[in-house]
Amino acid sequence: MFEKLLKELEDLQNNRVSIPVKSDGDGYVDRECPNADCLFIFKVHEDDWRDIFRDEAVFCPMCRHEAKSDSWWTQEQLKHAQEEAFKYVSSRIDQALVAGARDFNARQPKNAFISMKMTYSGHALSTHFMLPIPASEEMQLKINCKKCQARYSVIGSAFFCPSCGHNSAEETFDSSIQKIEAKIRNLPLIRQAVSKVSKDEAETTCRSLIESSLNECVVAFQRFCEVVFAEHSPATKLKFNAFQNLDIGGDYWQELLTESYANWLTASELKQLNLLFQQRHLLAHTEGIVDQKYIDKSGDHSYKPGQRLVVKEKDVLKLVELVNKIVTILRTKL
Ligand SMILES: [Zn+2]
Ligand SMILES: [Zn+2]
Repeated sequence: MFEKLLKELEDLQNNRVSIPVKSDGDGYVDRECPNADCLFIFKVHEDDWRDIFRDEAVFCPMCRHEAKSDSWWTQEQLKHAQEEAFKYVSSRIDQALVAGARDFNARQPKNAFISMKMTYSGHALSTHFMLPIPASEEMQLKINCKKCQARYSVIGSAFFCPSCGHNSAEETFDSSIQKIEAKIRNLPLIRQAVSKVSKDEAETTCRSLIESSLNECVVAFQRFCEVVFAEHSPATKLKFNAFQNLDIGGDYWQELLTESYANWLTASELKQLNLLFQQRHLLAHTEGIVDQKYIDKSGDHSYKPGQRLVVKEKDVLKLVELVNKIVTILRTKL
């Protein structure tokens, strides 16, 4: 009476169950770094995943971990696939059991002294229709690898092309800066739109966008410096977040190029750059509340300890201009 079930199990074992994976609105599918210390989530364009990526090796854009193409499923995708596969397999087993019970009952002699009837209380009588694995929301920063042309997208920034492993620091820096400029440019629109709901929220949203831009600008600069520095001086072990700190980062350039920020910027530009870096530090570590250390390090006496920083659009644009100036010079020197 279990022939149907055994046959079904054998069939399930021999045939792969495949679950479709959906791409997002821009045609990108989710991927996740299998390195347990990293688990960086990014996206790759579905056409390029098929046409450009190689099965033997895919790289993590963040840590450059290398693994075969089938090891990049995200936790979400695996969870969804597991659930769908479970529903599908259970529905087929249910069906086989119901059919087995029906056959068993049909084979019972009509006038037997003892009669046996088999019932199966399963629920799914039709084969489960597998739902495609949904894609997460589009990621803003889209990068096109200069070397292999593969398209991928990340949140924040990345170092490496997932397809060829090429170091993408330069492309990433440029796109991060463009994104920051676009964000600042769009602030009046955002303010206007959110004001319709609440004026308070409009101010909070815009302030948080401005402040996060300051941070993104420093991070983009830091990553660019780390990567190009390591390319030219691979033996030097950089201190953690070295280029977030102008003194430490400046010393590294001095050692490598025998010149540094003070040679590339005017005294007032360097002072302003230092002040904006210190402000970013405050935003990241004290939620923008001024302390004595900030005043000493930045030379900014317009605040007293305990006050909250006020960052404006023009400050972000100034920081963009200054880091761009340094990066342009570094590009000609390296
Ligand atoms: Zn990784
Ligand atoms: Zn590439």
